[in-house]
Amino acid sequence: MNSPEEILKKYWGFSSFRPLQKEVINEIIAGRDVLALMPTGGGKSLCYQVPGLMKEGICMVISPLVALMEDQVKALQEKGIKAMALTGGIHFSEVDSMLDNCIYGNYKFLYLSPERLQQDLVRERIKQMPVNLIAIDEAHCISQWGHDFRPAYLNIADLRNLKPGVPFIGLTATATAPVVKDIAKQLQLHEPVIHQRSFHRDNLAYEVKEVQDKNYYLEQALKEHEESAIIYVRSRKATVEISEFLKKKGISASSFHGGLTRKEKSERLQAWLQDRVRVMVGTNAFGMGIDKANVRTVVHMNLPESLESYFQEAGRAGRNGAFSRAIILTNQSDIPLLKNQFLATLPSVEFVKLVYKKLNAYFRIAYGEGEGSVHHFNFYDFCSKYELNTLQAYNTLLLLDRTSVLNLSEQFQKKTKVRFLVSNKQLSYYLEANPQADAVVKSILRTYGGAFENNIEINISVIAGKAGTTQEEVISILKRLHKEDIAEFEHDQHDTRITFLVPREDETTINPLIPTIKLQISGKTKKIAQVLEYVENKERCRSRQLLEYFGEENTRDCGICSVCKPSAEKLTRDGMRKIYFEIIGLLEQDEHSSREMTEKLSFPEDHVLQVLRVLVEKGALTVTGGNKYKLSHL
Ligand code: ADP
Ligand code: MG
Repeated sequence: MNSPEEILKKYWGFSSFRPLQKEVINEIIAGRDVLALMPTGGGKSLCYQVPGLMKEGICMVISPLVALMEDQVKALQEKGIKAMALTGGIHFSEVDSMLDNCIYGNYKFLYLSPERLQQDLVRERIKQMPVNLIAIDEAHCISQWGHDFRPAYLNIADLRNLKPGVPFIGLTATATAPVVKDIAKQLQLHEPVIHQRSFHRDNLAYEVKEVQDKNYYLEQALKEHEESAIIYVRSRKATVEISEFLKKKGISASSFHGGLTRKEKSERLQAWLQDRVRVMVGTNAFGMGIDKANVRTVVHMNLPESLESYFQEAGRAGRNGAFSRAIILTNQSDIPLLKNQFLATLPSVEFVKLVYKKLNAYFRIAYGEGEGSVHHFNFYDFCSKYELNTLQAYNTLLLLDRTSVLNLSEQFQKKTKVRFLVSNKQLSYYLEANPQADAVVKSILRTYGGAFENNIEINISVIAGKAGTTQEEVISILKRLHKEDIAEFEHDQHDTRITFLVPREDETTINPLIPTIKLQISGKTKKIAQVLEYVENKERCRSRQLLEYFGEENTRDCGICSVCKPSAEKLTRDGMRKIYFEIIGLLEQDEHSSREMTEKLSFPEDHVLQVLRVLVEKGALTVTGGNKYKLSHL
C-alpha cells in the first residue's frame, strides 16, 4: 500500500500536508470516526480523498450542492481517478446502471445528494457496495442549530445501519461548540476524534465600514486591489444593479443568483473562475465550496443573516495567502432593514397553518386526501388570490418543504424574464406609437434595473399593480413586444410544481411542526442579534470577536482589522481643523453631497464623514432634502 504522502504526490503533485490533514487521515486509516473542523480553503477534501484512495473499495461522499459535486468529480476524473456524482434529475434506469458500475466497476468515489438516500433502490445498492469510508461534507447542515439546516441530511444516520462498521468523517468550516456536539450526535459518530484547526486567518482583514454611499466605497475598494472579488447582496435585483454599476465604472463584473438557469450559472461561474470576469456580484446562492485562490476582496453590501454564513463568505478571500479584505458596508438604515426584511417575514405558526389551509383550498384537496398528488402552481396567483405577503408565503413554502409536508420542484425559482432589445430612444419612439404599452413598459423600467442589458426577472402581479392593469394584460403586451422584436420575453405559466407528501389532516399535519417552527424563529432572531452585536462592537478586534463566537480561546489581536487598524491614523484635532476649513471652503461655493466632498478633498472618507457629523451636530451645517450639505447660515 502507498503511504499518504505518496498518494498526495502521485495524484495531486503536492509535497506536504497542510496542518491537520495528516492527523485526520491517520485516524481514518485506523478506522475511527472523525469530525474535522477546518477553515474554508483549509483542504478538507483531501482528508477523505487520500484515505479513500488508500483503502480497497469505494468512498461515499454526501454533499449538499450539485455544483460542488460536479466540480469535485471532474477534478478527480482529471487525475485519472474513477468518480461519479448521483445528483437529482437523473432518470431511474440510469441511476440503476450507475450504481451497478459502483459495485462492479472499480469506482473509487461516489458523490450523493442526501435526498438520494431516501430512495429504496439507492439504499439496496449501497448495501451491496464495498464502501470503505463515508464522508459528509458541509456536515453542519445536519444540525437545526446551525445556519444551514437541511432536514434531508438527517437521512445520513441511516447509513450506520446500512453499512455497519464503515467509518464516518464529517467535515465543516463553520460550527459553534453546540453545533459540533449536535453534528456528532446526529451522525451517530462513535467516540469521534474531533480535529479542529484554529480559524484564525493571518492575511485576512475583517472590516466594518460605516459609509453613506456604499456604491462609491465599493468602487474605491475594488480599485485598491485590482484582483478577483466577490460582492454579496441580498436580492437578485441588486446583483444585476451592482454589476451594471461596476461595468459602467469600467470594472469587469457579472451577476449570480438562484434564479439563473443551470447553464447560465455554470457559464458565469467559469468566466469568473478563469479570471475572464473580475468581480462576481451574487446572493448567498453564490460560493458554497467554491475554491478560487486569488480572491482579494469580499464585500457585503448588506448585513449578513448570521455570523456563520458571514464567516464562511468572508473566508473566500485570501486563500492564496495574499493580504485580503473582507468588508461589511453598513449605514444607519441597515439595522431596521435587516429586522424588517428578515424577522418580519419569518412565518408564525398561525401563518403556516393559514398557508397550508389555503393550499388545500387552492388545489381542492379533500380531508385525508392529497398524498403523492402533484400540482402545477402559480405562486403569484396563489398569493394574490389569498392576499398573502409573498416573502412570508415563500418562507412558509420553504419551511413546509424542509419539514417534508410537501416538495417544491426546482422550477419553483424560475419566473418571468424580460429584456429590451432596442435602445432606450427606440423604445420611447415605440411607446409614442403604441401608447397602450406605455404604462407596463415604464413600470418595468422603474421597478427593475438593467433590463436593456440582461434578461431581468419580473413579477407580473407587481407590474400589473403598478401599471393599473390586469396580469393577463401585462402578459399580452409583453408577448406583443416579443413578437415585434422590441423585447425578449420568457414566461413560464407553471412556475412551480408542488407534490404533497402527506395526506391533508389540517391541524394534525401542522401541529407536530410547531416546535420546529418556533425553533427556527427563535434561532434566526438570535443569529441576527449576534450579527448586530458584532457590527456594533467597535472596541474588540474583529477577528477575535469572530473566533470567540466559534468558541476559540486564547485568541489575540489580529493587527489588521478595522478595529486594530482604523483606516489611517486616528483623526487628530489638527487634522480635524484642516478638513473643517476645506469643507467650509467647498460649501461656500455650493451645496455638496458627502461623496462629492470626499472626491474633491484628499482626506480619507471616514475622516471627512466624522467631521461632517460633528458639524451637523453643532448646527453649523444642514442636510438638504437632496442629501446635500449646506452652511446653516446661508
Ligand atoms: P475546503 O473544502 O477545506 O474549503 P478544499 O479541499 O477545496 O478546501 O481545498 C482548497 C485548496 O487547497 C484546493 O485547491 C486544494 O488543491 C488545495 N490543497 C489542499 N491540500 C493541500 C496541500 N496539502 N498542499 C497544497 N495544496 C493543498
Ligand atoms: Mg470543501
